[in-house]
Amino acid sequence: MTALAENLERLEAEIVEACRRAGRPRAEIELMAVTKTCPAAVVAEAAALGLALFGENRVQEFGGKALHAAALRSACGNEEIRVHLIGHLQSNKSQRAVELFDGIDSLDSLRLAERLNEAAGKLGKRLPVLIEVKLSTEESKAGLDPSSLEATQLLERLPELGNLQLRGLMTIGPFDVSDAETRACFRSLREWRDRWAAAYSRLEFGVLSMGMSGDFGLAIEEGATRIRVGTALFGARQAAMERD
Ligand SMILES: *Cc1c(COP(=O)(O)O)cnc(C)c1O
Repeated sequence: MTALAENLERLEAEIVEACRRAGRPRAEIELMAVTKTCPAAVVAEAAALGLALFGENRVQEFGGKALHAAALRSACGNEEIRVHLIGHLQSNKSQRAVELFDGIDSLDSLRLAERLNEAAGKLGKRLPVLIEVKLSTEESKAGLDPSSLEATQLLERLPELGNLQLRGLMTIGPFDVSDAETRACFRSLREWRDRWAAAYSRLEFGVLSMGMSGDFGLAIEEGATRIRVGTALFGARQAAMERD
């Protein structure tokens, strides 16, 4: 058994255990394998093990991997394989991002939504997106402040951006804080989802993407439908390669 296969087995057992604690069926939680900084061969190995949803955080890095979603699908004979962008996207890279990715999980501005809609239109693509919500007060955190005017403007505009398909929300939990604080952050994302789903009936909010290697158990208990796991599957990354 390879290290990756062992890690996947251990992770799967932990996910099942978190689901048991939460009283939720395992099938409610999608596992996204975060392959940023992983070489293409490792991504291919993960896909061969049956992982089907991948997250990358940089347009340029994934573009350089020469192993794109379509190639992965045909290499594994698995039509379900999807690769999503989970890192901050500069709007001038929208066209390239729409070419490379099957979904953008880090939509964080109205301007970016307009650009992605235009880019998807050019390719005749309907692009699934998640709004990235900033709930942590850490300066460095990405995402849109949910109580901002811009968040309201984005939600009001999205139904008219016909090439984008809103699927839900994403957040990154706070680092180095107590479990209680992390849990509060995840709960807050769920509450924003409930509030917005009631207020914007033309939009869909089924996906709650929250929880990473260190906190996916708490996220599952607080209602995550998608967890994003890198380190627990692929081992530690080199810090220098992680920067945006
Ligand atoms: C890197 C990253 C992850 C995975 O983090 P791990 O702690 O390695 O599991 C999840 N989400 C986002 C947005 C990331 O950038």
